[in-house]
Amino acid sequence: MEKIKYSLIKREKPVVLPENLGFGKIFTDHVFEMDYSSSQGWHNPVIKKLENIPMHPASMYLHYGQGIFDGLKAFKTDSDEIVLFRPQKHIQRINNSAKKLCIPEVDTEFLLQALIELVGIEKDWIPSKPGESLYIRPFIYGSEPFIGVRPSDFYKLMIILSPVGAYYPEGFKPVKILVTDDYVRAVRKGLGDCKTPANYAASLYAGEDAKKKGFTQVLWLDGVEQKYIEEVGTMNIFIQFRNEVATPMLNGSILPGVTRDSVIQILKDWNINVTERLISIDEVIEEYKKGNVTGVFGTGTAAIISPVGWLTYKGFDMSFNNGQPGELDIKLFEELTSLHYGKIEDKHDWIVHVEKKEIEV
Ligand SMILES: *Cc1c(COP(=O)(O)O)cnc(C)c1O
Repeated sequence: MEKIKYSLIKREKPVVLPENLGFGKIFTDHVFEMDYSSSQGWHNPVIKKLENIPMHPASMYLHYGQGIFDGLKAFKTDSDEIVLFRPQKHIQRINNSAKKLCIPEVDTEFLLQALIELVGIEKDWIPSKPGESLYIRPFIYGSEPFIGVRPSDFYKLMIILSPVGAYYPEGFKPVKILVTDDYVRAVRKGLGDCKTPANYAASLYAGEDAKKKGFTQVLWLDGVEQKYIEEVGTMNIFIQFRNEVATPMLNGSILPGVTRDSVIQILKDWNINVTERLISIDEVIEEYKKGNVTGVFGTGTAAIISPVGWLTYKGFDMSFNNGQPGELDIKLFEELTSLHYGKIEDKHDWIVHVEKKEIEV
């Protein structure tokens, strides 16, 4: 692989971050970009100014959706170091998503290096208040101008960065979720386990429908029978039964979350009985009626842990912990954020340090 080229801007003034960052609305000055062609492979890696991308109107991605993305975070620790959380696992997922979308895979070591370089250059954009971080969005899309359905011969990979606040501005408050069997997000043997735009397009209608009814999000059931719970919009789901914390097993239609994986490991470290298995919505309701469901929470990079206060299925309402965050939700959130901000030992080698780069201001 070629060396990364740099075409950095001269900053007129130091970076000043707004008081309220929100989520995904502010972008840093620079992006990483590289191109793919069948003859040259991945080439021309460069870190340069963020600009609009010129696109041919026939770019295949615009018509046939051949694209993938991922999302991870960089944190500024208590000792002012910059760290990434499990970037290798996210890069592995990029390649898994790519493979399924017929997109050429990337060199994992090289992409990690590119991530580290870009974040190091944009270090002044990393916010440091509790809950804040730098969201990293790598993505690849088919860029060949062609009308007709087949894999593109050309691709672009980009990484953009966005300083973000806590995902839920109201704070660590339980959300209200609608279990739907009117719509499905993905089916087994489909694309559900890839971060590809089609899955999110497929979720919009049901999401808006749920919002109109007063819910934050949808909990999807399996695409075949609408019997087994799968996941929430951009989060995996965990159900706390009396003697077990269970999460739907990965079956090909569920996104394999890195936070999900981390939570499973942490629960094991704590000697809590955690299982990955089929969980039917009927089982959840039956056990709830017996008083055996003690909590529900979602996991994902954006929100980290999101307590679920209410679940509604076919007009049957369930509530957990009186609409307050559960004990386990709080404990997991604190464990993960303590890891992110360097407050506790990184036993599983999940943290990757980023060297700061000086650029002229
Ligand atoms: C990104 C995502 C998740 C969470 O994955 P993380 O790696 O934990 O961020 C879960 N479900 C869907 C559909 C997602 O897009």
